[in-house]
Amino acid sequence: MSTEVWWSSLAAADRDLLGLLDAAERARVESLVRSADRGRSLISAAMLRTAVAAHLGIAPADVVVDRTCAECGGPHGAPRIVGRGAEVPSVSVSHSGLLAVVALVPSGPVGVDVQRLADLGDPADGHAWATREALFKAGKPARGDVAISGLRPPLPGYAAVLVSPAGPASAPRITYWPRPIRA
Ligand SMILES: [Zn+2]
Repeated sequence: MSTEVWWSSLAAADRDLLGLLDAAERARVESLVRSADRGRSLISAAMLRTAVAAHLGIAPADVVVDRTCAECGGPHGAPRIVGRGAEVPSVSVSHSGLLAVVALVPSGPVGVDVQRLADLGDPADGHAWATREALFKAGKPARGDVAISGLRPPLPGYAAVLVSPAGPASAPRITYWPRPIRA
């Protein structure tokens, strides 16, 4: 089963996407003060629903996303798809600067991280930083249980890393949503 990676950019942020979100996601978007933060939150939530919906063959609005925080029970944790048993994929979401990325695997650990290099003290740390973040999001798996691979972000000046279940190596299926991304 292949890993799916979906990319989007802030250029895709459009109020029409609010219609894809549930009430909690809309409230989260509208609570953010900076328009760039609102845009990243909007495209991340809408793209996650679209990717999972395409995988399951259902409508984006019918995807049930649980963001209960494992630490405090608040609604700001990593997203987990709720549904019936083996059908439910594992997902991971990241955004930085102008980009958002969603990774989806049919089952098992997954973590993805994108990092704008200009936001780091030392841009040369980008790959190591993204690797640490992606491993954390995958639940800090034992190294032998996962494959760690660099992703090529669709804009220059970013690093991105995917952590997915170990197994026969196959390149992830890449989707640019809702349209190709241009620098
Ligand atoms: Zn919390």
